[in-house]
Amino acid sequence: MNGVLSTGLLSLIGACSGAIAGSFLNVVIHRVPRLIDAHGGNVSGAQYAAGLSWPGSHCAKCDHPLRWYDNIPLLSYLLLRGRCRFCGERYGVRYLAVEVLAAVAFACCLVTLGLTAKAFLAALFLAGLVALTIIDIEEQLLPDIVLGPLFVLGIAFQFLPGGSIGAAALGAGAGYGALWLIREAYRLYAGVEGMGYGDVKFAGVLGVWLGGAALPAMFAVAFVTGLAVSVPLMLMGRIGRQVAIPFGPFLAFAGMLLFTLPGIGPAIEMLFAF
Ligand SMILES: [Zn+2]
Repeated sequence: MNGVLSTGLLSLIGACSGAIAGSFLNVVIHRVPRLIDAHGGNVSGAQYAAGLSWPGSHCAKCDHPLRWYDNIPLLSYLLLRGRCRFCGERYGVRYLAVEVLAAVAFACCLVTLGLTAKAFLAALFLAGLVALTIIDIEEQLLPDIVLGPLFVLGIAFQFLPGGSIGAAALGAGAGYGALWLIREAYRLYAGVEGMGYGDVKFAGVLGVWLGGAALPAMFAVAFVTGLAVSVPLMLMGRIGRQVAIPFGPFLAFAGMLLFTLPGIGPAIEMLFAF
């Protein structure tokens, strides 16, 4: 097949599957924190399956069920200009942003890796990072129901050509272990929890996907961007010193960066090795 044609076709397949995945991610982002609240923090797999599949999509304001044609990723949002057909309530631009991000992620992965299992797994990883980022910012929560599948998919990814199950095991142990130590040390020193346990598990999941060798650079990026964002906010008085800042978005950003551009790892390490 002609190169331009196949790139176009792969982008199209990627954008369509990504938009569908993004539409499901919106359901996960919206419903998982509410399910956790409703079940007092302890949600079974069956309760998640039921809660995520039923009821069908409906307007969060007027509860009116959406027609099937109001449920088409990207298109419906644009045609209805982000409003409910029944009550006119504006949906946040976040719904569109998540679908667009997932569509772009899938298209990029398919164009780079071809129509392969590896491409779809990589795209699901990037989409999962988007979901975790939004849930953590909104709810200060990194739910197991998202972390668990990402962990399993990461192991599957490392079994594919080019992967290394040894690197994944090292990454999982080192990622989890490093943040566990920091969390415990801070708790002993300050007497309060400075970091959520979700961040510790998330670092382990990232370690599976990136492998152990990429973790020093990943933590460096996560801590530096975390400080770069939170210190100015504290100085401007926008957040207090005692307010816990969600660390998940910075881990997700660093993970995404090192995953898509693994070549920059050594350069980042050199920057910190003086
Ligand atoms: Zn409505």
